[in-house]
Amino acid sequence: MGAPRHVPPDPSARLWRNPEPKRGYDVVIVGAGGHGLATAYYLARNHGIRDIAVLERGWLAGGNMARNTMIIRSNYLLDESAALYNHALNLWEQLPAELDHDFLLSQRGVLNLAHTEQEVRDARRRSFANELNGVDTEWVTPEEIAEICPILNTSDEVRYPVLGATLQRRAGIAKHDHVAWALARKSDEMGVDFIQGCEVTGFTTDGDRVTGVQTDLGPIAAGRVGLAAAGRTSLLTDTLGIRLPLQSHPLQALASELLEPVHPCVVMSNHVHVYCSQAHKGELVLGAGIDPYNGYSRRGSIRTIENQLAAAVELFPIFARAHMIRTWAGTVDVTPDASPIIGPTPYENLFVNCGWGTGGFKATPGVGWVFAHTIATGEPHPINAPYGMERFTTGALIDEHGAAAVAH
Ligand SMILES: Cc1cc2nc3c(=O)[nH]c(=O)nc-3n(C[C@H](O)[C@H](O)[C@H](O)COP(=O)(O)OP(=O)(O)OC[C@H]3O[C@@H](n4cnc5c(N)ncnc54)[C@H](O)[C@@H]3O)c2cc1C
Repeated sequence: MGAPRHVPPDPSARLWRNPEPKRGYDVVIVGAGGHGLATAYYLARNHGIRDIAVLERGWLAGGNMARNTMIIRSNYLLDESAALYNHALNLWEQLPAELDHDFLLSQRGVLNLAHTEQEVRDARRRSFANELNGVDTEWVTPEEIAEICPILNTSDEVRYPVLGATLQRRAGIAKHDHVAWALARKSDEMGVDFIQGCEVTGFTTDGDRVTGVQTDLGPIAAGRVGLAAAGRTSLLTDTLGIRLPLQSHPLQALASELLEPVHPCVVMSNHVHVYCSQAHKGELVLGAGIDPYNGYSRRGSIRTIENQLAAAVELFPIFARAHMIRTWAGTVDVTPDASPIIGPTPYENLFVNCGWGTGGFKATPGVGWVFAHTIATGEPHPINAPYGMERFTTGALIDEHGAAAVAH
C-alpha cells in the first residue's frame, strides 16, 4: 500500500473527516469533483445510503471543479438538455439554505452574444425552444444590451459587431470551491467517507458484476461503483473492455488583477471565442474554447490565450490596460455530441457519469441527483435516461454543439 500523495490542507480537515478507507462500502464513487460530491450527497440525502466512500486520486475537488469559471445557466437547445440543466438550476437556488453554506450564488444574468445572421437565427431558435421548455429566456437587441452591460462594445466598429443576444436572467455564477466544501461537509455529517490521495487503478469482478475497485491503497469492495472521474473515466472502463467515446482536451481560463465592480453580468461569445464575468473579489474571469489537441496536461497554448484576449479587448475596450495575473487549465472530456454520458454500463453495479466537456459545473446538483438515483435504483432517472452510452450506437444523439457554450 502506497502513502497518500497529498496531505490535505488544515482548513478542509475541519470541514470533513479524513478517515482511513474501510475494506468495503455499499457504494464507492470514483472522483471527488463536484459530480462525485453531489452524487454522494444525494445518495445519502435522497436514498438513505450512508455507507459510501468517495475516492479521490488528488485532493478533494482539485480537478475541474477547482478550475472552472463558475458559470451557471440552463438555456440549452434540446428538450433533454433543458430538463437536466433546469433541474440543476432549480436545485442551485435552494442549495445554499439546504447546505447551510453561502456559496455566493449570484443570479446576475448571462448574455450569449450573436455576431452573424446565422447566429441570430440559431440563438432565436434556442430562445423559442427555451420558452417552450419553461426556461427563462429573452432576446435582447444591441440597444438593450448596451443598457444591461454598458461596458460592452455594441458599436459597428468591431470585426464582428454584436447583432443581439439571448439573456437568461436566472443564470449567473456560484463560487465553485465553496460549493465543493459545502457538499463535502454535509455529506461527511451524514457519514460519507472522503478518501483523498487514493487512485483507483482497476476493478474486481465476478463474471459480469463489478464487486469492488483496485486502488493504490489496496482493494476496496463495493456493492455498487459510480465513476465520476471526468476524462479518466474512459481509462478506467478500458480495463473492463468498455470503450467510451471521450476525448480529453486542455481548457484554459484567466484571471485579472482586482478591479472595482464594472462588469454587471456574464457575457459569452461563441463566435469570437471569449466569455467574461467579474468575480465577487473583483477579478475578471475569462475563458475561451478548448485547445484543439488531446492531452491530460493541465496546460494550454499561448495561441489560445492571445486569441481570447484579442476578442476580449475588442468587446470590452475598457479592459485594454487590465493586467492578467493568472492562467490555468483543466482537462475536459468531450463526447461526439457535446452531451454527457450518464447511466449504467454493461457491467452490473457499474455506472458512469462523464463527457461534460466545457460545461459540467452548472449541472453539478442536477447530475448528482439523477446519478444518485441511477446508482441507488439501478435504473436511470427519467432525466438521464436519454444520456446512456448506447446512443452512440443507436444514433439517438443529443447534439448540443451550438448551445454547449465555448467551442468544443
Ligand atoms: C477552464 C475551465 C472552465 C470551465 N468553466 C465552466 C463554467 O463556467 N461552467 C460550467 O458549467 N462548467 C465549466 N467547466 C467544466 C466543469 O469544470 C466540468 O465539466 C466539471 O467540473 C466536471 O465535474 P467532474 O466532477 O466530473 O470533474 P472533476 O472536478 O475534474 O472531478 C473528477 C475527479 O476525479 C478524480 N480522478 C480521476 N481519475 C481518478 C482515479 N483513477 N481515481 C480516483 N480519482 C480520480 C480527479 O482527480 C478529479 O478530482 C470548466 C472547465 C474548465 C477546465
